[in-house]
Amino acid sequence: MTERRKITVVGASLAGLRAVQSLRREGFDGEITVVGAETHTPYNRPPLSKSVLHGDDDVSLPGAEELSDDWLRGRRAVRLSPGEREVILDDGTRIHYDGLVVATGVRPRRLADHLEGVHTLRTIEDALALRGELEAGYERVVVVGGGFIGGEVATTARALGLKVTLIDAGRHPMRQSLGDEAARWLGGHHERHGVELISRARVSAVEGGDRVTGVRLDDGRSVPADLVVAGIGVVPNTEWLEGSGLAVDDGVLAEETLFARGTADIVAAGDVVRWPHALYDNTLVRVEHWGNANEQGAVAARNLLTGPEGATPYRGVPSYGTHVHGCRLQTAGLPYLADEVRVVAGAPQDDSFAVAFARNGVLVGAVAVNAPKELIRLKRAIIAKEALT
Ligand SMILES: Cc1cc2nc3c(=O)[nH]c(=O)nc-3n(C[C@H](O)[C@H](O)[C@H](O)COP(=O)(O)OP(=O)(O)OC[C@H]3O[C@@H](n4cnc5c(N)ncnc54)[C@H](O)[C@@H]3O)c2cc1C
Repeated sequence: MTERRKITVVGASLAGLRAVQSLRREGFDGEITVVGAETHTPYNRPPLSKSVLHGDDDVSLPGAEELSDDWLRGRRAVRLSPGEREVILDDGTRIHYDGLVVATGVRPRRLADHLEGVHTLRTIEDALALRGELEAGYERVVVVGGGFIGGEVATTARALGLKVTLIDAGRHPMRQSLGDEAARWLGGHHERHGVELISRARVSAVEGGDRVTGVRLDDGRSVPADLVVAGIGVVPNTEWLEGSGLAVDDGVLAEETLFARGTADIVAAGDVVRWPHALYDNTLVRVEHWGNANEQGAVAARNLLTGPEGATPYRGVPSYGTHVHGCRLQTAGLPYLADEVRVVAGAPQDDSFAVAFARNGVLVGAVAVNAPKELIRLKRAIIAKEALT
């Protein structure tokens, strides 16, 4: 084990919390300093686009109460000096470390910040603001981006009886994550539940005075809106690492052990890290899923204590689940890598099916709609690198 006396964790959310818990579990009895830009106790983000929008405020994250170490809430890291082993905060404080965990996550891309009624969804404040507007008597919601979060917001807005238009750049929503078959099903499913789906379209402008009145599409069409929710992807929070010499390219570039490339005292975990995935021929991946941040925080911290030589590679299979208009949609692995796709159970027209994805004959991904057992079976097969038979 590498001798470290002072470990600093930047980012006090899921990955950062799991890192702290792992350090203590592994018997680290040195000093831990946690720096978190948010002022809240770490909370769970998945309910923000689901139950919170329906009025349930429970976003508790198991273990959050264990963050009793030297925790600097509402403080932002603005610079890293690896030479001096220091993190510099927005109030000028310099924090020394022997080991550093980078867990600063991502933030949403934005459409237009200057207009009222235009929302993104990442924080509890975002969710409460959106909930307030969904309940405020507005009629027309435009959701930009048909990904998981856009799909969940569309589902909630329809359940509340609002008129919903979903605008997506692809031929079908989530085509990259789900493949053609399941993405086509998803588009149809939205439409069958009263969502007006506009595919292959991009928003070129948001219209309005003080408050949004609509969006303009790149083909010139205008879509009226009282409320716009953008789910158009995210940006990793890595600005504070600029000039530090750490390799950053759509996230912190790390080794398969989650050590930041070329370092022996810095690890990264969660939505912010991009690492070579051993299960997929070392393809660089960055994964924005709860299970990934939950596991990586723990693995990265353990590896930090062990040091690069004895460190364990992180090989978790990315997995995600959501409910869209009453149907359970789950994915595992990386379907977008596939060169062969097959429906292996059920049928899309029955709203119950599973799709397997293979590359060079080996399973790399799975998608299931109302077929959770199939998803479990396929996920095991992906881990075992089984052939698609
Ligand atoms: C609305 C919503 C719904 C979701 N639903 C699901 C779901 O159903 N299933 C699923 O698997 N995943 C879901 N996710 C994704 C999941 O929540 C994330 O994968 C997870 O939160 C990632 O955790 P993290 O700790 O890596 O990053 P984050 O949760 O993004 O936390 C990063 C923290 O670092 C802080 N920070 C950033 N920069 C700095 C800085 N310079 N200094 C100090 N602190 C900083 C941020 O303020 C933040 O608190 C959802 C996400 C959202 C937003």
